[in-house]
Amino acid sequence: MDYNFLEKYETEITEVLHDLGKIPEPSFKEYKTTEYIVNYLNKNGVKDIRVTDPGCLFHLDFGSSKTVALRADIDALPLDSSGEKYKHICGHHLHTAALLSLVKILLDKKIQPKVNLRIIFQPAEENISGANFMIKNGAMEGVNEVYGIHVDPELDKGVVGLKTGNMMAGANFFDVTIKGDSTHAAYPHKGSDVVVAASDFVCRLQNIVSRKIDPTLNALVSVGKMQAGDIANVLPEKASLAGTFRFFDEEAAAVINDHLRLLAESISLFHNVYTYVDIHEGISPVHNDKVLSKEIGGRLNRVLEKLELIDDERLSLTGEDFACYQQVTPGVFFKLGTRTNQNNAPLHNRDFSLSDKSAVDAVYFWLNLVDILE
Ligand SMILES: [Zn+2]
Ligand SMILES: [Zn+2]
Repeated sequence: MDYNFLEKYETEITEVLHDLGKIPEPSFKEYKTTEYIVNYLNKNGVKDIRVTDPGCLFHLDFGSSKTVALRADIDALPLDSSGEKYKHICGHHLHTAALLSLVKILLDKKIQPKVNLRIIFQPAEENISGANFMIKNGAMEGVNEVYGIHVDPELDKGVVGLKTGNMMAGANFFDVTIKGDSTHAAYPHKGSDVVVAASDFVCRLQNIVSRKIDPTLNALVSVGKMQAGDIANVLPEKASLAGTFRFFDEEAAAVINDHLRLLAESISLFHNVYTYVDIHEGISPVHNDKVLSKEIGGRLNRVLEKLELIDDERLSLTGEDFACYQQVTPGVFFKLGTRTNQNNAPLHNRDFSLSDKSAVDAVYFWLNLVDILE
């Protein structure tokens, strides 16, 4: 479908995108953003909004026995460690603007999809806790399928990427605390050196993926935080590490889990320290149901005129809590290409930017997707 009438909505879509871009808020603090979304929806005739503050969800009943959820995430990211400056450098304002515009157009044009729609404006995607928060608030009650999109500056504007099966990694997190006996830096033998123990832990950690996991499986372990000591000539009594591991198979996750604990025991013995590992379960991999992806991809190919749907072969080790919805019911997550000569900085980079026309692409995509649902 060409949806040529979209031209008339371009100014408003852009305005919403810019409005949201001016109120970037961090995960679970998206109060102004939620207020904006709810006001916009009320103004455009949506009733019975369940405001989860932050975030909201509602149901559009089109008299079908089937309900399909469409999800947008609404949070922004900090620009530095001051915790004062935020910016939409993951493009979630575009996801939000597009879904708001879709709802407005469906109601304006009295479009009647063949399925009921559950519209979800989810907070806190960046700290991967918002999806489960929305599910606890009833987002997936009675839902049969779920769809989402994410902007992607690695793909050209005008392209939509669809990856069948595993798409983005499952992510778990861990904290390591190492305690020893503090001593003078010149008498290491009189105490137990937690700095060396922590360094040893970080280096040997990399052996888990390279030596303990089937090399044909994709997995990753990274330590992003390492803290110990304050003074150059004192060996401190405590060191702490924090990191994450990524996986596509439960088998790989279990191996990493077990070997993190084994490594802690071995570090304790060798360095005569106390090592404690705390593993926090994060999210499952984003997995696009194979049958549904094929079916929906085929139908989209027949209707999309202004965007090109491509088979996206890329596997990403980043996580995305859209996976939580897919744990409840089958769903597909799409990538919307946004790269132009002017807009090519990567996601989460402070220079990340989007062309206003990309928001129109997203609305066009949603209109076509809603059209082919049955
Ligand atoms: Zn992000
Ligand atoms: Zn994102």
